[in-house]
Amino acid sequence: MKYTDSELNFIAEKTGCDCHLCHQPIKFDAYGDYSHPDGWEVDHVRPRSKKGHNGFSNLRVAHTHCNRKKGNRSNRYVRSKFGVKGMPASTSNRIWKGIAYTALGFGTIWLINEICKSRPEPKVTFN
Ligand SMILES: [Zn+2]
Repeated sequence: MKYTDSELNFIAEKTGCDCHLCHQPIKFDAYGDYSHPDGWEVDHVRPRSKKGHNGFSNLRVAHTHCNRKKGNRSNRYVRSKFGVKGMPASTSNRIWKGIAYTALGFGTIWLINEICKSRPEPKVTFN
């Protein structure tokens, strides 16, 4: 199947440009480059041989070498061999997580400031 650049972008975004099998980054420019170590292709999460469809919800990026290792095995089995579970987070999820952590950081600073502000001035008198 042939994909346009925007379709490839859309598919790669779903896993934050990480291979859905080993969770390591792919090299976006190396799409279909079988000689590149981070070369990748579009993988059917549910294989076509098992009635997997061609819709975007069934498509993820995978290194060519990972996809070759996968063969007819299940995604779960292949991921367990790489010591990972599930699907890598999407780019937008990572961005939201970053924003949430940043907000949490600023929230913590604000809270510490508030706690320090509310302390009464020490009443010390020197004679
Ligand atoms: Zn991989």
